[in-house]
Amino acid sequence: MRRRLVFFALFTIVVFACQAALAGGPKVVGGPAIGTRAAFGLDGQPFLWNPAKMPIAYRLDPGPMAATSTGTVVIDHAAGAQRVQNMFGVWQQVSTAQISFSNAGPILPAGSYTGGDLTTAMQFNDVMGSCKSGAQSPVIFDADGKLIASLGLPPEVIGFNSSCAFDSVHGYYVSSAIVMNGSFQDGVSSSRSLELSASAFDEAITHEIGHLLGLDHSQINLDELLYFSGSCDVDQLAGLPLMFPISFCQARKDAGLPILSPDDVSWISRLYPNTTTVSEFGTISGTIFFADGITPVQGANVIARLVDDPSTSEDESRRVAVSVVSGYLFTGNPGQSLTASLGTTENNTNGSQAGSRTSSLIGYYEIAVPPGTYTVEVESIFDAFVAGSSVGPLDPPVAIPGVPEFWNQDESAFDYPLQRDSITVHPGDHIPNIDIILNSPYHRFDQYEDSGQLRDVPILSPLQSMQEMHV
Ligand SMILES: [Zn+2]
Repeated sequence: MRRRLVFFALFTIVVFACQAALAGGPKVVGGPAIGTRAAFGLDGQPFLWNPAKMPIAYRLDPGPMAATSTGTVVIDHAAGAQRVQNMFGVWQQVSTAQISFSNAGPILPAGSYTGGDLTTAMQFNDVMGSCKSGAQSPVIFDADGKLIASLGLPPEVIGFNSSCAFDSVHGYYVSSAIVMNGSFQDGVSSSRSLELSASAFDEAITHEIGHLLGLDHSQINLDELLYFSGSCDVDQLAGLPLMFPISFCQARKDAGLPILSPDDVSWISRLYPNTTTVSEFGTISGTIFFADGITPVQGANVIARLVDDPSTSEDESRRVAVSVVSGYLFTGNPGQSLTASLGTTENNTNGSQAGSRTSSLIGYYEIAVPPGTYTVEVESIFDAFVAGSSVGPLDPPVAIPGVPEFWNQDESAFDYPLQRDSITVHPGDHIPNIDIILNSPYHRFDQYEDSGQLRDVPILSPLQSMQEMHV
């Protein structure tokens, strides 16, 4: 067994404080009207910022970006404002996406916040109220980390994004907030005040801006985390999404890599296409099935990887990969009516307002890739990716029955998991029906919903049942 125990040390692994996603791929997907409940956005369509209302205007905290706990300014406002502009610029500069941002000036006064450096929880709450009313999208410098501490968040939070207001008729984000913890940039490194390189800090906040734009987490090259040994292999890091749920490698910039991985570029281009997007990508789609070949599987991670070119020293199969979670457009919580309506607080009759109820979207995936020759594989979402680190519609994730496997032309419940065929994608292609049938003794997860052949198998003898009852 080569498996190694991984110890999560705070100085190497920093957890993003991300909002739990309602929905890899888009963070929030629209859901239909159900009963008396109105529709939430457009059924099965990711929430976006209105492409006709670019640039996205943000308002910046007039205070410094980083200061020591005794008040000495380490990164002043002007330098911080430039860094923020550069972080937004990472997404704005994607040539196949139509996104722009503008600094609309300082944060607007709201309640106890009358202008100047925003420092207290009360000021924060009032400004967030203004954000929730759709009035502004604040970008807040918590220069010494004391605001984040006063909100009850742990000191290892680098920053967070909070979506504030939605246009639920058209499926648009209206306003959103970013908070960044300057104590990571104050030059002081101790067990209570962690320090990051400027590139690592900026990449963490750029991840949060990815959420602001509507991106969920993506899981690619998970093996680099599971077998982490102190620094990441550059081929693996190149393919590791900036939107991976946790940060544990050296900064991408410090490794000579672009800030965004191919997965990040593909998904932001898919959400915000421009006129060049169609000629720069092709699409692979399909459905993941249980071993019966009929029942679709929600929540399986699907990855398209470029086939390695043996004539180069780089491993393209680790560098160029794009993923999504099966059923990403379908709701993660369809609701149920039996035990769901016992009281107002526990009422889950119609489930989440987010995500489609169109049954053909269960287990369905679509991945846009740069032109090339790819393999497609399926795996489980890592079981530690829950809540603010969740990936895809199911939180907590549900492991796929059976082992990870590749797609091949003769998919069955009995194929060899490593048997693979390649798919050549040209610009503008859509290659459908790349369906994978999982290898598993279970035809579907819930035996009580199957065709009935298992119902006659006695699980416990009557005597055993009596003993169970008395334990
Ligand atoms: Zn995140």
